[in-house]
Order: sequence, then C-alpha cells, then structure tokens
Amino acid sequence: MSLQRVLVANRGEIAVRIVRACRALGIESVVAVSEVDRDSLPARLADRAVCIGPSRAAASYLNTDALLATALGTGCDAVHPGYGFLAENPDFGAACERNDLIFVGPRPETVKTMGNKLAARRIAEQAGVPVVPGSSSIATFTDAAGVVEDIGYPVLLKAAAGGGGRGIRIVHHPDELRDTFQSAAAEAEAAFGDGTLYVERYIADGRHIEVQVFGDQQGSVIHLGERDCSLQRRYQKIVEEAPASLVPDALRQSILDSAVALAAGIGYSNAGTVEFIYDQQRREFHFLEMNTRIQVEHPVTEEITGIDLVQLQLRVAAGEPLGIEQAEVPFKGHAIECRITAEQPSAGFRPSPGLITSWEPPEGAGVRLDTHCFAGYRVPPYYDSLLAKLITSGADREQAIERMQAALGDFHVEGVDTGISFLSGLMAHPDYRSGHVNTRWVEGQSGALQAP
Ligand code: ADP
Ligand code: ADP
Ligand code: MG
Repeated sequence: MSLQRVLVANRGEIAVRIVRACRALGIESVVAVSEVDRDSLPARLADRAVCIGPSRAAASYLNTDALLATALGTGCDAVHPGYGFLAENPDFGAACERNDLIFVGPRPETVKTMGNKLAARRIAEQAGVPVVPGSSSIATFTDAAGVVEDIGYPVLLKAAAGGGGRGIRIVHHPDELRDTFQSAAAEAEAAFGDGTLYVERYIADGRHIEVQVFGDQQGSVIHLGERDCSLQRRYQKIVEEAPASLVPDALRQSILDSAVALAAGIGYSNAGTVEFIYDQQRREFHFLEMNTRIQVEHPVTEEITGIDLVQLQLRVAAGEPLGIEQAEVPFKGHAIECRITAEQPSAGFRPSPGLITSWEPPEGAGVRLDTHCFAGYRVPPYYDSLLAKLITSGADREQAIERMQAALGDFHVEGVDTGISFLSGLMAHPDYRSGHVNTRWVEGQSGALQAP
C-alpha cells in the first residue's frame, strides 16, 4: 500500500467509516472538522483532527482552500471525499490533483461529465443503454410544452445539475406546466448554479435498481451486483437492499451488463453507481443517472459480497489493480439497510436535532450499525439528519427482514426523534414483505404507517 496518510473531507458516519478503513490498511487518517464537530467520533478515532472553520458547511466542509491547506499542512498524500459535500465537485478533484494529492474517486473529467444528467444520458445512449424517454435541455416553457405533448403527462421536470432528490418536479397537467417550469428553473439556478432543465416520462410503477460498479486505473471494470432502493420519500432513499428481488434473471443480467458497459465505455475508475428505474408495467429498465462516489447504501453490497468497498477505493486510488475478476465476485445471502435519521415522522419528517440522552443500539447475529452517534452526543442542526445506518443480513430476504425487525425493536434512542418506529411499520407491512412496492409506495402508506 503506497498511501501513507489520508485527509477525510467529510463528517458523520461516513467519516468514521473512512477512518476505520484507513486503519485496517495501516494508513493514517486526518479528519477535517468544523467547530461543532471538534469532539465528534471521527475526530476522536482519527490519528489527527484539524478544525477548518465554522459550523456552516459553506465555511468548513465545502471550503476547498481550507481542506487543501489542511491536507498539505499535515502531510497527507490523498483525500477521501465520502458522499455529499465535495464528493461530486470536479473542481475539488482537479484542485487535489494540481496539489499532488490523490483524489479518492474517479478522474475529475468523469465526475464533471456524469454530474450533468443530460451529458450522462448521452453517454448512456452511446453505450447502448436505454434512457428514460425524455428530452435534451429545454430553454423555455414553450419548448417544454412541445416536448411534453410528445411524451404525455405526467412528466418529471429535472434539473440537469440536481442531486440528493432535489431538483425534481412532477407535472400532472398542462395547466401546471408554466408555473412549475419557471419555479423549477429558478430553484435549480439558486441551488445548483445551473438552471438547465429537461423532461422525462414519469414512471408511475417503477422500482429504483442500481448497480455498484468498480474500475481500476489499469482499465478493468466490474460490477458488485445490484441494490433495490425503491423505498423512498421525496425522491430520497429510506431503505435499501441487495440483491433486488422479483426481477426476472435475464433482465437483472441486462441491467448489470448495461452498467458495466457504460462505466467501461468512459474508462471509469474507483467506486461508482449506475442508477436505473425498472418500469414494472412495461417490464423495461431505463438509465437514470450515475453517482461518481461511494454511495450511502454501499454496506448492503459489502454484506452480500464480503468486499470492503472503502478499502478497495483506497487501494485502487493508490494504483493497485482490482485484484478480482467478475466471475470471482462471491454473492451470498441478502442484506437490508435502514437509514435512521433525526426526524419526526409524525410531523412531516421535520428535522429533530438536539442532545441524545440515551443511545442503546441493537446487537446480534447479522446486525451491523454504521454510526457516529453515542449517548451525550448533540446532533447539530447544520447538516444532513442521518444518525446511523442499520444493516442486517441473512441467508435470504426473509431472514434479513426478521433480523431488521428485531434490531429496530431493540434500538432505543432518547433526546431526539427518530424514524425507528416508522421503519418498523414499513418492515412489517405485507406489501414490503412480498416485495410488491414501487418508488411511490412509502408516500402512499405514510398516513397509515404513522398511526400511533
Ligand atoms: P445515495 O445516492 O448515496 O443514496 P443520497 O442521494 O442520499 O445518496 O445523497 C448523499 C448525500 O449527498 C446526501 O447528504 C445528499 O443531500 C447529498 N447530495 C447528493 N447529491 C447532491 C448534490 N448534487 N448537491 C448537494 N448535495 C447532494
Ligand atoms: P437524484 O440525483 O436526485 O438522485 P435521480 O434521477 O436519481 O435524482 O432520481 C431520484 C429518484 O426520483 C429516483 O430514485 C426515482 O424514485 C425518482 N425518479 C427519477 N426519475 C424518474 C422518472 N423518470 N420516473 C419516475 N420516478 C423517477
Ligand atoms: Mg439518484
């Protein structure tokens, strides 16, 4: 291993995850923290923590200059961006390279191209991968009206630069198009600095199926199986699992092959995720987007393959080959992840920051918890509300679900509101247990599941 010291340019559970992966490989870690995170778990676990600025993300975790100065000042040779923050900012990757720091991720050009969903759609088409029927960039409301006429309502208006479930708006009826178009363009401009919109057919009965891909700098690209992330709220994932159930085998294989073809076509290196939507009515799948980073839900893939994805990211970034052929990737059992957030499900999932007065995590066979929380930790109001990822695995889906139900039941948190009992309700639901869900299912159930 040629990496000596890695700067962790992130916080929360993923920062803990990266610090532990570094330690397992004998690499030192330096965590860059904001003021409020000075005493956080990643800061305590890392070899060193350096405060880079005030608590607001813009002044710390998004402060490229401070991060680079810290990496250079502490003698790091690489930077791991985690997910969110600067992970998909090509300027950050390029700035790392200019300073002779290895960016743990794909090349900046790749990050840039795939960060634009329209450019990514074109690349998918070139690789022979079906995309959701839709448009190229749309400049005016009049153009949108013409395109939507061809596609048919309902449609989604999507921001080319969007991400994290933001920048997606549904339009059911021609009367709504003008207002939605104008407000979506203005919002995208404000949120992403790019107001470019495009249109996609709205797939009402779809499942979100994504493929974990991995490439090395020697040109090999493999997949590590698929994940089903159909349980969502506001276009954001809540529960993820691997493998996806109820997908015909031939179709599953085409989805996996498409993801590898796409990634290989652009000489992809490091970890990436190719996202698809599977239209259950038409029995077709379409490319949605590619995320050029480690994904929140990567643990379910680790559980079924036994491969540590964050360690592999570090090895590949250091120039090592993948060291495993496609046919050798072991797939075993089933794994599920629940995202435990500090939110109040009964109040429209309003964020619930504050002091965690009691934290009793579950334990047991097939139970894994990725978290930065503990009793006495104060959840700051400045960032994402993710407290922990609870992952269970088992010989099959049923066992993984049963273990998840038991683990959720044993998970006691006081001081902040969490989604734990809401998630228990999801796990117990016959539609979920039988796999008969789609990306809209959670929102359709919310009222019933929230009943006391
Ligand atoms: P995953 O696709 O790994 O499940 P999410 O979509 O939940 O990840 O996003 C992971 C994190 O990155 C979240 O904190 C989300 O808010 C953030 N994020 C993702 N894309 C963007 C983006 N384009 N702009 C800002 N934040 C983003
Ligand atoms: P983001 O960058 O915000 O993750 P995605 O394009 O991946 O954006 O879409 C997020 C989610 O929105 C998907 O997982 C899916 O549930 C929903 N979605 C996106 N495009 C469509 C579509 N054309 N039809 C139906 N649902 C969609
Ligand atoms: Mg997505």
